[in-house]
Amino acid sequence: MNFSSYFYSMTKHDNYRHKGLRNKLVQTLKQKGITDIRVLDAIGRVPRHLFIESGFVNFAYQDKAFPIGAGQTISQPYTVAFQTQLLELTGNEKVLEIGTGSGYQAAVLMEMGVELFTIERQSELYSKTSKLLKELGYKGRFFLGDGYKGLPAHVPFDKILITAGAPFIPKDLLLQLKKGGTLIIPLGEKEQVMTKITRINDNDFEQIEYGKCAFVPMLEGVVK
Ligand code: SAH
Repeated sequence: MNFSSYFYSMTKHDNYRHKGLRNKLVQTLKQKGITDIRVLDAIGRVPRHLFIESGFVNFAYQDKAFPIGAGQTISQPYTVAFQTQLLELTGNEKVLEIGTGSGYQAAVLMEMGVELFTIERQSELYSKTSKLLKELGYKGRFFLGDGYKGLPAHVPFDKILITAGAPFIPKDLLLQLKKGGTLIIPLGEKEQVMTKITRINDNDFEQIEYGKCAFVPMLEGVVK
């Protein structure tokens, strides 16, 4: 066994210490106002330390965002929990995530039982993350592409979750929602407002705002 495969097998472990730290994280999220038991249970199961750069492993269960390469970040657990709670999932939904990034949010969604489709525009992250999620046994559909366009070949979706700051509402995504379906979008340029948009009818949408947040920007096109 060479050093890198030794290190790899060491870092892929999920032990009692990690589980204890996760339980503490779940308590923190409850104290910060997350109430959806399904969301809290999923966060209690996903080994977040396997989704971040090795240098940050000891901080994996703090409620903080971290760099994941390609200038991107893994969202703060509270943000992941808050966005997931807004999706109001029962576990049977077909969900599209925009911005796979580290794959942590995708893993939380798959732990909740949904049929997950996720798109990433940076090929470096797409390759690394789809490999990791498969290794961990997650059965989602991973795509390299521009999230602004959604996935026309797989419509319609019950829920769409954008995990980057969108300067405007992508029209294609609204039209890929089922009737009664919802889009969760951090809307704005430098700073965003967490927004939930529900498709009431073909051309009839309802919009509710949930306060300020800060995400890396949702950008157009694919980076090879
Ligand atoms: N859900 C991720 C959050 C990553 S940060 C996680 O749990 O780690 C946001 C991600 O959105 C970045 O990886 C960024 O490259 C990606 N992104 C930005 N604009 C995009 C677009 N138009 N289509 C797909 N992904 C996009």
